[in-house]
Amino acid sequence: MPDVFADLVGQDEAVATLRHAAAAAAAVLRAAHPAGAGSDRTGAEAFAEEAEGQPAVDPGAGMTHAWIFTGPPGSGRSVAARAFAAALQCTYGTGCGECPGCHTTMTGTHADVRLVVPEGLSIGVGEMRALVLRAASTPSGGRWQVVIIEDADRLTEAAGNALLKAIEEPPPRTVFLLCAPSTHPDDVSVTIRSRCRVVPLRQPAAAAVAEVLVRRDGIAPDVAQWAAAAAQGHVGRARRLARDPEARQRRDAVLAVPRRLTGVGTALDAASALIEAAEAEAEASVAEADAAERAALQTALGAGGTGRGAAGAMRGAAGQLKDLEKRQKSRATRAQRDALDRALVDLAGFYRDALTMALRAPVAPVHTDTAALAEAGAQKWEAEGALRRLEAVLECRAAIEANVKPRIAVEAMMLSLWKG
Ligand SMILES: [Zn+2]
Repeated sequence: MPDVFADLVGQDEAVATLRHAAAAAAAVLRAAHPAGAGSDRTGAEAFAEEAEGQPAVDPGAGMTHAWIFTGPPGSGRSVAARAFAAALQCTYGTGCGECPGCHTTMTGTHADVRLVVPEGLSIGVGEMRALVLRAASTPSGGRWQVVIIEDADRLTEAAGNALLKAIEEPPPRTVFLLCAPSTHPDDVSVTIRSRCRVVPLRQPAAAAVAEVLVRRDGIAPDVAQWAAAAAQGHVGRARRLARDPEARQRRDAVLAVPRRLTGVGTALDAASALIEAAEAEAEASVAEADAAERAALQTALGAGGTGRGAAGAMRGAAGQLKDLEKRQKSRATRAQRDALDRALVDLAGFYRDALTMALRAPVAPVHTDTAALAEAGAQKWEAEGALRRLEAVLECRAAIEANVKPRIAVEAMMLSLWKG
């Protein structure tokens, strides 16, 4: 049985840091509940201590209460945070992958592990205050209260301040695990950053990604290698490409864009097609959750009955429906932007291939299946033209991130890709 860090692909340094910290955290707990003190120390913990056959790690060394996991999308920030949470809740303090602490954390059911996944464009202050309050309570499992905040770069300023207060005056058994693309002040405020230990994750090599697809997901080696290269180090994306024919079709459509650009009209058509494909993909991805939430809310409201207070309940119902619709709209917008961004990353990979070919750089292409087309582009555009096109794609991503309307940004990009 592989331990909880097994899925952290190509991140040996980060894993070593986290293992060390988990051992230190276990030592803190042992120091708080020494043997024979009639504490809640379990037999398993005592066993783990004896099995180590060495003096306990200096309590506190290597462990701290606030962490930031940084790295490019798909490098495994949230995988790392969840694995570390499991190691903290592990009966043996190692992240064995087998004990109830590990198991419930990895399946998302541990009572002392809270996961915040922003569904909209930002995490609001209300949500954060409620979370901080609950995180201050004593861990029911006797170990740690762990709060994982995915996409901490999407905290609103007010929410960031609420979190900062908790990190500055941490409850003794609470651990905050933040995930963000980088520690740039645009992603994480300087004050939060200064209170956290940073665990940088690298973009895993295609070979490492392919290996895990074969080992864990049982994907054929040649498919795994193709998908790992095409996904550019994004583990989840590689798995989707290897398994989901629709994801492959969407990628094919995106990679057909460069050869379709023959004039202003086709460039604008290509922009519309890209936007609409992202909208369709996003709609499909949130439709199920939307319907389930609406049904759950209707059931809850329907149970209100006709007795005293029913009129008040109805007034409340309208507000709740409105809240739900607002949340769902925000989530749909996020899903659209994520889908569009994936398409832009694929497109950037194509122009990067053309650039490396024009420069005769000895690196493998990102998209092996469009390598011939990229080679033709390299000959026609030369390095300079390929670079300008690559930059146009990257500028489009940056513009959308900076809240330029996606259609406007994509149209500008397509015109640049056509004209060069
Ligand atoms: Zn365990």
